[in-house]
Amino acid sequence: SSGLVWFRRDLRAFDQAALHQALAQCARVHCAFVFDTDILDALPSRSDRRVGFIHASVVALDASLRALADRQRPVLHVRHGRAPETIVALAAELGVDAVFANRDYEPAAMARDAAVAGALESRGIAFHDFKDQVIFERDEILTGSGTPYAVFTPYKRAWRQALEPGHTAPFDVHAEDAQLPADAPALPTLAEIGFDAGNLGELKLAPGVQGGEAMFADFRERIEAYKVRRDYPALKGVSYLSVHLRFGTVSIRQLVNFALSVGGQGAETWLSELIWREFYQMVLWHRPDVVERCFKPEFDALQWDDNDAGFAAWCAGRTGYPLVDAGMRQLNQSGYMHNRLRMVVASFLTKDLGVDWRRGERYFAAQLNDYDLAANNGGWQWAASTGCDGQPWFRIFNPVTQSERFDPQGRFIRRYVPELARVPDKHIHAPWKLTPVEQAGLGVRIGTDYPAPIVDHALARERTLARFRAVRGQ
Ligand code: FAD
Repeated sequence: SSGLVWFRRDLRAFDQAALHQALAQCARVHCAFVFDTDILDALPSRSDRRVGFIHASVVALDASLRALADRQRPVLHVRHGRAPETIVALAAELGVDAVFANRDYEPAAMARDAAVAGALESRGIAFHDFKDQVIFERDEILTGSGTPYAVFTPYKRAWRQALEPGHTAPFDVHAEDAQLPADAPALPTLAEIGFDAGNLGELKLAPGVQGGEAMFADFRERIEAYKVRRDYPALKGVSYLSVHLRFGTVSIRQLVNFALSVGGQGAETWLSELIWREFYQMVLWHRPDVVERCFKPEFDALQWDDNDAGFAAWCAGRTGYPLVDAGMRQLNQSGYMHNRLRMVVASFLTKDLGVDWRRGERYFAAQLNDYDLAANNGGWQWAASTGCDGQPWFRIFNPVTQSERFDPQGRFIRRYVPELARVPDKHIHAPWKLTPVEQAGLGVRIGTDYPAPIVDHALARERTLARFRAVRGQ
């Protein structure tokens, strides 16, 4: 029999469930990646770092597949078009018996896959899908009464209890010396699909499995310090692996196995973060309505402010709150933002500026290299207090105290807000408190060189409490 492996967010040729299954079941294996116009045409810019990252990762995938020494010698077909039609047409053209793919839990992806499965079936071709990007999916982790968890900590406990060695066993894909198949088709260039790589080349972000492996190797040396360093954006404390997890250029089983083998507080804390990722994927699968609506339905009635000027200042990193601005500028320049800052800027947008979390979520979706619907939606609803959070809605971050705690010497701020480079540590978190004389002495005029705060935190806090009180109990 013959099969077609359809790659999507799993761009690697090792420990890959669908590829493993196809190689085990079929005498001849073809592979495909589609630059899907349904997704690409909706992107706001033709200079998207993510498309560059994916393209380079697909080139690397092609090389890895060519190096597979299995007798099936899989060949990668790369196409540009609407994914559903393209895959169905390719499967028919190649005359395969089945299409193999790894499951994706986003509502649009599930609808696409259901349509593809139906169209294939009507042509007598099977569609097989597999769990690959998570350890536990869908309803594998449920409460004692069979309902999905709405809070992370008990979910995590159940996840840890359910974990057995089999869950993290790699999906073997046999690989040896390179051998070029004679009929290997050429890949389209990035320009041919209508994009350029944006500023990807300027970032320390190597794509493909080699990039993922290098980043993981670097983090392996630092994992023990993760717990104590991870909250400080100026330090190299986190793994930066999110983009590789997003596109499957690392394997979740490999990461979990490593964390388990190291043990200790650093590795345990990092494993928790990997479990957060699965938690939000589980939430999205059970509650696809969260894409548009609040996880806690009573908060759908919240009356947000339009505040277009505030939103524009937030996007541009010009709110006058240095840590917020540093985070937004990091995002705009690099497509990455440290987790602590994602929480701070999301809280600032929703609770200081009173702007609907959905607007911030969409801005992040356009900018983040690691953009993932489940994690982004979960993170935004958490920050806005409309989502899965054990904390009550009246927990409101203070952007100045967050700055004092997590960037005490302003090292991160100075990196992204050079206007404040000369401001001493004492004033870097709230530079508007400098007197005009002090400002003149430092050569920075607040309100001219760097914005004065666009909102008063104490007043904004009161407005937010009132906004939430108005809908509570409805
Ligand atoms: P590490 O600290 O090294 O963590 C390891 C991995 O665990 C991450 O790569 C990620 O896959 C996962 N992870 C960590 N924290 C979370 C979390 N809170 N929720 C889900 N998964 C997590 N993460 C995304 O991958 N894509 C997003 O679009 C995204 N949007 C977010 C939006 C907001 C408002 C917030 C508060 C968080 C968001 N996160 C998102 C979660 C988190 O900020 C990033 O995963 C993390 O900063 C990535 O850096 P890292 O790989 O160095 O993380």
